[in-house]
Amino acid sequence: MDQTGTNTQVRQKRTVLVVEDNEMNRELLCALLADDYTVLEAENGLVGLKQLNAHSGEIALIMLDVYMPECDGFEFLTRKREDPRFDTIPVIMMTASSTVDDEIRCLELGASDFITKPYNAEVMKNRMKGLIRLRESSAMLGQLEIDALTGLLSKEFFYHELEQALREDPDGRYDLVCSDVENFRAMNDRYGTEHCDRFLRALSEDYTRRLPGLLFGGRIGADVFAFLLPHMEDASETRLAPGGQDGRFGRFVVKTGLYADIDHSLAAAAICDRATLAISKIKKAFGSNFARYDDEMRADQLRSHQIEQTMEAALAERQFVVYYQPKHDLHTGLTGGAEALVRWISPEMGFVSPGRFIPLFERNGFITNLDFYIWEEVCRELRRCLDEGLPVVPVSVNVSRRDFESPELSRSIAELADRYGLDHALLHIELTESMYSDNPAQIAETLEALHADGFFIELDDFGAGYSSLTSLNTLTLDVMKIDMSLIRQATATNDYSILRFATLLADGMRLKTVVEGVETAEQVAALKVLGCDYIQGYFFSKPLPVQEYEEYLKAHCGAEVKA
Ligand code: C2E
Ligand code: CA
Ligand code: CA
Repeated sequence: MDQTGTNTQVRQKRTVLVVEDNEMNRELLCALLADDYTVLEAENGLVGLKQLNAHSGEIALIMLDVYMPECDGFEFLTRKREDPRFDTIPVIMMTASSTVDDEIRCLELGASDFITKPYNAEVMKNRMKGLIRLRESSAMLGQLEIDALTGLLSKEFFYHELEQALREDPDGRYDLVCSDVENFRAMNDRYGTEHCDRFLRALSEDYTRRLPGLLFGGRIGADVFAFLLPHMEDASETRLAPGGQDGRFGRFVVKTGLYADIDHSLAAAAICDRATLAISKIKKAFGSNFARYDDEMRADQLRSHQIEQTMEAALAERQFVVYYQPKHDLHTGLTGGAEALVRWISPEMGFVSPGRFIPLFERNGFITNLDFYIWEEVCRELRRCLDEGLPVVPVSVNVSRRDFESPELSRSIAELADRYGLDHALLHIELTESMYSDNPAQIAETLEALHADGFFIELDDFGAGYSSLTSLNTLTLDVMKIDMSLIRQATATNDYSILRFATLLADGMRLKTVVEGVETAEQVAALKVLGCDYIQGYFFSKPLPVQEYEEYLKAHCGAEVKA
């Protein structure tokens, strides 16, 4: 016999309790059920209740006669109801001559179904199976209502309860509080799931104790809790957000978001989104652990919604255009390259800045479509300039972290350049440093392939936010682009030591440097002294539309620009 055959045979039989005073009927029934069930017998209600007491955990179903001496079916049902352990065990009443009134009474006392003697064996067995399955699946649902780790409601059940609470009290005013643990995935990797689980439990207890008038809470993500409270006029960080100063809980940092005065027309998921959106505004913002959803965020959400509604048509209608920002070569005094930067000129929304839509496209994945479009526009433009004998410098394109999700990335960029017959050295790839942590192996591999294929690799935004020096060591790079925050900071404090360190580091790694965001002649002079290679910034030029860029190149490709 095959394995599966064996397994089904071996499956444990469910237990059925048969309560029937007529001996012949009882034996007949037991014989009928013996193949499929373990059968317990009782000759009257009293014995039946004893059996029930002794085997309550095993009994999957009760077959109960209505009329019996000692303790009849009605009394049995009444007594069964008194004990919550027996509550969910279904009962099928067996009758020969019961009246409608009696049947109604049985149903009122909690019976689930009737069968009439003499039984049709098939019908009876199917009813039994159906009732047992129903009970078991609802028991499973019951388990899923509670999150085993924290004792909070499960996500689905929390959503269900939240919507129900709002429906039942249409004029009531409620607040929703959400929590989020900073870098939870990394903490899990670092300290182990057991430690992190213990922390989540403590955290949920802390919130439960702290939140005033808490109605109920749920665990709606691995490290995300949501709580429903009556509306507070005086909500504040100290009342709602747990942890010591800075939202710290030992090694963990917890952020709390509040969506006050819930709009009853929203679905539960959208309600929770509002509180988590508030949190997303303070993610990675040191010392800021509490945020509330406000009108500005609402306007933001509407704009994002509008952007998502129109982005595909906008791409098809070529509303996205490439601007070029020249890079000035400090050694030659000429234009040494340019960066392609996308602009969205929307008939409905006007000029939309990349800061508004790039992060959104990175989240929803549309960035890969847009990026590929931009790369192709750049290739087309380079080809046209070459064909028309216009001056040409290498152009850097931005590659988003989402683009690296495709294992085909290096091949598709190479194919694109080849389709336009371009020397690969004319196309530089800019990747943001912060994306290194996502999938280090694949990113490193793709860069290696691109580099081997003759493309230049530029590490963007070096020194911004959460830099990791590891990326310098493990990635194949040609250029380090130093984030504009460094030149700003140097100018503001008149202290160039960090910039000096960055250029020394780049030198040591044999990387060329580009300093971004250079706006004044003093900055240019200082960077010259430090030995930087290129400057990209408003001092030389803002990002230009293609026509102006062409003019700029004609003027600055052969003649030195005075700095
Ligand atoms: P980024 O790659 O760091 O681009 C440099 C940004 O600095 C550009 O902003 C540029 O206009 C601005 N900038 C350059 N020089 C100066 C200066 O002297 N002063 C000041 N204040 N700003 C300067 P932009 O064009 O708004 O782009 C913002 C970001 O959007 C870019 O940062 C890049 O991360 C992203 N982005 C732009 N175009 C694309 C694209 O086609 N694909 C992808 N994936 N991202 C893009
Ligand atoms: Ca860039
Ligand atoms: Ca940059």
